[in-house]
Amino acid sequence: MEFHGHLGPYLVLGILAGEAGIERTGAGKHFGLEVKVYGAGQRPRSCLIDGLQLSTGATFGKGNIRKARGRGIRIEVRNLKNNKQAEISLKPSLLKGLSSLNGHKDSEAFARRLARAGTRGRGLFQIK
Ligand SMILES: [Zn+2]
Repeated sequence: MEFHGHLGPYLVLGILAGEAGIERTGAGKHFGLEVKVYGAGQRPRSCLIDGLQLSTGATFGKGNIRKARGRGIRIEVRNLKNNKQAEISLKPSLLKGLSSLNGHKDSEAFARRLARAGTRGRGLFQIK
């Protein structure tokens, strides 16, 4: 959280989605993977990108994370060793929760709930 400066739901979701992607593909952190994130161009959605960098070790400095335009949020994690890929999107129930957030305090409380919601974001994501 120090790195990002505040606690928000999209930061937490980025961390959890990155963990889920690594688990699904078996990719190594930092250099063993490539991450592409769609539909997270503006704040607060773009906070997702910092969360992904934190949990996957893919960074803009190394050039192994990229962002692209998209209507909805979607995250692709690819294992560079075997090309195994995971596509992660947010479940409708989660999107509904996010859209109902009202103000900073509410968002922070939601972020804390997400962080506790379970390891690797089970129940939050659709992964294929
Ligand atoms: Zn943020």
